[in-house]
Amino acid sequence: MRHWYTIERGGVAAAAETSTASGTHGPIEDFDVVVVGAGFAGMYLLHLLRGAGFSTVVLEAADDVGGTWYWNRYPGARCDVRSIDYSYSFDLDLEQEWVWSEKYATQPEILRYAQHVADRFGLRRDIRFETRVAGATYDEGAACWTVTTEAGARLHARFYVMATGCLSTSKKPEIEGVDAFEGPTYHTGHWPHEGVDFTGLRVGVIGTGSSGIQSIPLIAEQAQHLTVFQRTPNYSIPAANGPNDPDELAAIKANYPAYREVNRRSFGGVDIELPTRSALAASPDERAEAFERGWSQGGIFALSALYNDLRTDLEANSHVADFVRSKIRHVVDDPDVAEKLCPTDYPLGTKRMCVDSDYFETYNRDNVRLVDIREDPLVRLTPQGIETASELFEFDAMVFATGFDAMTGTIVAVDVAGRDGLTIKQKWSEGPRTYLGLMVEGFPNFFTVTGPGSPSVLSNMMVSIEQHAEWITDCLVHLRDNDLRSIEATRESEDEWVLHVNEVASMTLYPLANSWYMGANVPGKPRVFLPYVGGVGPYRDICDEVVEHGYKGFALA
Ligand code: FAD
Ligand code: NAP
Repeated sequence: MRHWYTIERGGVAAAAETSTASGTHGPIEDFDVVVVGAGFAGMYLLHLLRGAGFSTVVLEAADDVGGTWYWNRYPGARCDVRSIDYSYSFDLDLEQEWVWSEKYATQPEILRYAQHVADRFGLRRDIRFETRVAGATYDEGAACWTVTTEAGARLHARFYVMATGCLSTSKKPEIEGVDAFEGPTYHTGHWPHEGVDFTGLRVGVIGTGSSGIQSIPLIAEQAQHLTVFQRTPNYSIPAANGPNDPDELAAIKANYPAYREVNRRSFGGVDIELPTRSALAASPDERAEAFERGWSQGGIFALSALYNDLRTDLEANSHVADFVRSKIRHVVDDPDVAEKLCPTDYPLGTKRMCVDSDYFETYNRDNVRLVDIREDPLVRLTPQGIETASELFEFDAMVFATGFDAMTGTIVAVDVAGRDGLTIKQKWSEGPRTYLGLMVEGFPNFFTVTGPGSPSVLSNMMVSIEQHAEWITDCLVHLRDNDLRSIEATRESEDEWVLHVNEVASMTLYPLANSWYMGANVPGKPRVFLPYVGGVGPYRDICDEVVEHGYKGFALA
């Protein structure tokens, strides 16, 4: 049976008939909006959309809220943006009442925060947990999406939003016999809820990105012996974590709205003064003093935001990269191990900077060994452990800290079919194409949150998530208020935006690294710089201007 919708001011009446035409799937339910994902993005969207009078359901594969912080429970997991910044700003009471215990909160504390928000705003009643979305198909005649779950349920909605996260599809190492190991194997992105006790075990870890760098020191403390398999060394800076200073917190909270506004208008979603000076204009002594200051201050932006050309000029960058290498050589006792840990073949900051607590110090422990798999490549996993070109390793447990099919992987994993049956996977076969990282030509009424082509993972994600959730909600209100039933990016605006995203990226050093920002960590994935490097403040202005000009670049019907 056909479905149809009437959109009315003050709330959508789902005038659709329910149907049993789907046979074993049961009746088809109707909503104004189906949101996929109950991480920070889906949670805030639900709060906003409900508040604006849209009937909304959130579908979530996990059995609770939290997204990233639900799944990534590995030892040492914590945020790398300060918690006073990495938290919602939309509710004044919430931000006043919640007290973060440390500068960089741990995963359990961030998950508790997500759960608290869900309770406080009664979100769970409109979230269906343990519900994985398998497909979504657009019916142009009805201007309606049919969303299908893996369990076979079907839902109709005028609008379909994927708040599915940029780092939510984990990837195993691409190695022969990846499932051959007979002992337990853990991926940092799917860590068991009950935790893992490595006491007395011989453990192998593959991967030295942020997840590896956070977990390796703690696994080393427990394990009888730890072997780390490193493909690419990373630039990492001490977090200088610790309890929050109550006076500093009080001062921020006294002025929180203004503080948040600075974040929204900033480059990376946190209040960092943009440098005006070139590293090349500074004397060696001045640079050394600035780098030392940054290093002891700690945190993800402490080095990369010191000079205005570190992201754009190789020579400038080489100074800060040299400084980090000197620190690694200073901390690590064995000169050979220290050299292996020094990144040399990409500029600092072009892969996500890592923030650590005693990462490099861990290699001074007697029970830790580093294997450089560029020198001694992985051959295969065996029932007992790992075979490299020159050695057989035996383990009791293994950890894959091997990252994610970032930004696009989770979206294309769902069979999203737009106009004329074109799938998002086909459309993005040579790299993602979006307008503003929000919408895609050929896919009306379909939104992505912090999608490719938006500042997203280059920013404090909370700021970017809130901006997208608010933009999308305002857009749906605009459509409703103007009796419009669909919105779609035009081909021209998408072309121009893709060009702009690429042009800005090519002015930086980012494309020089084999990073997940470039899709380089997934074999066969097109090499395209995925996020928008123009900064969250300028990007917000662009999005606002688009609205002020009557949703410029979008076709409204
Ligand atoms: P997610 O939190 O990823 O939530 C997406 C949800 O969608 C998940 O719960 C997933 O189960 C669900 N989902 C996906 N596909 C489907 C489907 N087909 N059907 C049903 N459900 C589906 N960012 C920062 O700014 N600062 C940090 O310090 C920081 N630290 C991080 C640490 C780790 C370990 C990781 C992995 C990421 C970190 N990030 C950080 C990025 C982080 O992902 C974002 O900050 C933010 O949590 C993303 O929220 P989200 O709601 O957009 O996506
Ligand atoms: P990642 O940065 O992609 O790191 C994955 C690691 O696994 C890399 O060292 C990679 O080597 C290695 N690897 C992947 N495939 C391999 C293979 N087939 N063989 C051998 N080695 C392989 O993933 P991540 O550490 O999970 O972090 C992803 C992102 O999540 C971060 O960049 C960050 O944005 C976010 N995050 C943040 C924090 C935080 O501090 N708050 C913590 C964790 C994650 P190559 O480098 O050679 O590819």
